[in-house]
Amino acid sequence: MGIHMQVIIALLLGIKRNGHIFLGLIFGIIIGCFFPSEQYPNVYKILNFAGSAFINIIQMVVLPLVVSAIIIGISNIGDSKQLTKLGGKLILYYGIITVVAVSVASIIALVIQPGLSAKGLIQPDIISHIQGYVTDAINYQRDNISQIFLDVIPKNPFSALSDGKMIPIIIFVTVFAIALSKSGDISRPLVSMFESIFAATMKITDWIMYLAAPGIFALTASAVSSFGFGVFQNISKYILAVALALLIQFFVVYPLMLKIFSKVPVTKLYGAISEAIMVAFGTASSSATLPLTITCCEKRGISNRVCSFVLPLGATLNMDGTAIVQVIAVLFLTQMYGVDISPLLVIEIALLAIIASSTSAGIPGAGMITIALILNGIGLTPEQLVVGFSLLFTIERFVDMTRTICNVTSDAVVASIIADNENELNYDLLLNQESKEQG
Ligand code: ASP
Repeated sequence: MGIHMQVIIALLLGIKRNGHIFLGLIFGIIIGCFFPSEQYPNVYKILNFAGSAFINIIQMVVLPLVVSAIIIGISNIGDSKQLTKLGGKLILYYGIITVVAVSVASIIALVIQPGLSAKGLIQPDIISHIQGYVTDAINYQRDNISQIFLDVIPKNPFSALSDGKMIPIIIFVTVFAIALSKSGDISRPLVSMFESIFAATMKITDWIMYLAAPGIFALTASAVSSFGFGVFQNISKYILAVALALLIQFFVVYPLMLKIFSKVPVTKLYGAISEAIMVAFGTASSSATLPLTITCCEKRGISNRVCSFVLPLGATLNMDGTAIVQVIAVLFLTQMYGVDISPLLVIEIALLAIIASSTSAGIPGAGMITIALILNGIGLTPEQLVVGFSLLFTIERFVDMTRTICNVTSDAVVASIIADNENELNYDLLLNQESKEQG
């Protein structure tokens, strides 16, 4: 049997285990189709309210979870040699995954040329709707790349914490955790406190998951109900290009990475994280999915030491799915506006997408804000963008849901590779859990 079939079967088994969430997804799609937001604005409002409430509830635990996980992760690693080794591997594997992602995306966008079929399309009502949004986003990013690096330095860690700015938080917490691990016994009480916070947030996550089925239902239904089905044919090639690139990443690149760098069977890993995959799809938020990603990975044998170090960093910085969509979207726009696409321009777009995606927060829609960084980087004006953006936005939520699957899956892939390399993966749990659960 081909590896793709095996992966699909593993996912189906995982879905069967989490049937209630899957049912939520399916019913969400059906109800969303029957109640389009334009005709049933009140139904949409209720669904949107319930979905947003679910996302807020999960996000409630994200900040304490990320902070406590990184502190425990780094203090568990202990000596600086180990930390450098693990940190180096993390950068290496996340780097490879993202570079491959932008390369695949560039090739596909250049071959399919999604922008050509949308050339000349203008829809005034949608344009006026997002005009302000696009201009704001562009203005914000205009300050150039060096400002972005300055922005991530947490000059006031407490204000970063209260604003939920994940990258500055992570930078501060990482430095703080390294300092704690170098401070000897005196730091033990504080580390224990964070261990308690971590345990409590995981408990809350368990409780929140009781709401997963209705939450995913409401999110999916509201997303489907607000789709602009009418413009599908105008951007069908864009959808095709995005779908193809994400599928290649999911079914080819991750399995290859697992095969080359570890002994982890892809089917077992995907089966193990299927619940997180569905929640990623429903919430379109890798931060909101993080508690569940950690639960799934730990339950199936990846050590807490690796999970608590690799996954929170991944959920914030490793956004290969986002990078894929950004590259294709920007090439779509450049093709649509007839910009000359030289090899150098493609490389520039790909490199900017690596930066832009990793500065995207793990929340819905973040990738479509940071995309402005790439567009500015290649000198496009807001006036040129509006029409193209209006097309992309009609299906943005759905694209967001699918790219978030990749963002979350690649975190788990890298965590399992590092755990395998470091002898921190309990293969008994990974390989046999399925049969135990069925037995
Ligand atoms: N929604 C994505 C995530 O949370 C980020 C984005 O691409 O908008 O991973």
